[in-house]
Amino acid sequence: MHVAGVDVGSTATKAVVLDEDGKVAGLGLCPTGANVVRAAERVFQEACRAAHVEEFDVAYVIGTGYGRYKVPFGHTQVTEISCHAKGAARLFPGTRTVVDIGGQDTKAIRVSPQGEVVDFCMNDKCAAGTGRFLEACAAVLDMKLSEIGDVSMRSTHPLKITNVCTVFVESEIVSQLARGEKVEDILRGVHNAIAGRSVALLRRVGIEAQVAFTGGVSRNGGMVRALEERLGLPINVNDLSQYIGALGAATFALERVKHGGELPPPPRPAGAPQTHGGH
Ligand code: ADP
Repeated sequence: MHVAGVDVGSTATKAVVLDEDGKVAGLGLCPTGANVVRAAERVFQEACRAAHVEEFDVAYVIGTGYGRYKVPFGHTQVTEISCHAKGAARLFPGTRTVVDIGGQDTKAIRVSPQGEVVDFCMNDKCAAGTGRFLEACAAVLDMKLSEIGDVSMRSTHPLKITNVCTVFVESEIVSQLARGEKVEDILRGVHNAIAGRSVALLRRVGIEAQVAFTGGVSRNGGMVRALEERLGLPINVNDLSQYIGALGAATFALERVKHGGELPPPPRPAGAPQTHGGH
């Protein structure tokens, strides 16, 4: 028996297939692009192929993420907030705080010992301090997204970046390059600026160890280091961290099939106002 979770994010779509023991049997990942339904189908096929299971043999599929209603083969939907909490608690059982930095938004979630959402808060109004911001910085420096984190860790004199706005940071970086500043010091400043914003968001829900870092930006080692320094705490992250939303959805699916588990209602932020981005 297999179950699956499909997380249709604004930037990337992810799928996780679990076997009946809850072990990860297959993964799928692709850019979401303009055709959201196609992206959901594609990652599901990829994950099923990796798990050696036919798509129609998957007993239960839960959709999550902003495009969760565009998963045509999904049996039901659960919000990404609940799925990130569930997935993080599943991967790192001591999780009490989740920071999710994705392509276009950042979320802070406080989690109960049972993996339920206690409180959350998000910055989804603009791309300041998200994956897209880092992509813009990499582009202006003519570097690959996958290399900027490592380069930032070589910095000995981090610069202070004042803009976390995706539009204005490009001209700030260009003028720093013109002044002869080192690329690694600029990049360290960029990572520190995002870490500062993310920790401010986390403070709104309360920071309690252990902290899990989820979302695609968790693949950036420089960002992990900058967040750890700003928090003064170690952070849990591993190769599955970008898949945590899909993993949480699949875990809900497994509990439902095996034990008739209830699905959580959409959580409400308890007194945490939504924040606007970077201007
Ligand atoms: P979504 O917000 O759509 O759910 P994800 O959480 O999967 O998206 O994050 C996607 C973002 O992760 C991309 O926009 C990119 O900025 C970042 N990312 C993906 N792979 C890497 C990588 N190897 N190194 C650094 N950042 C990455």
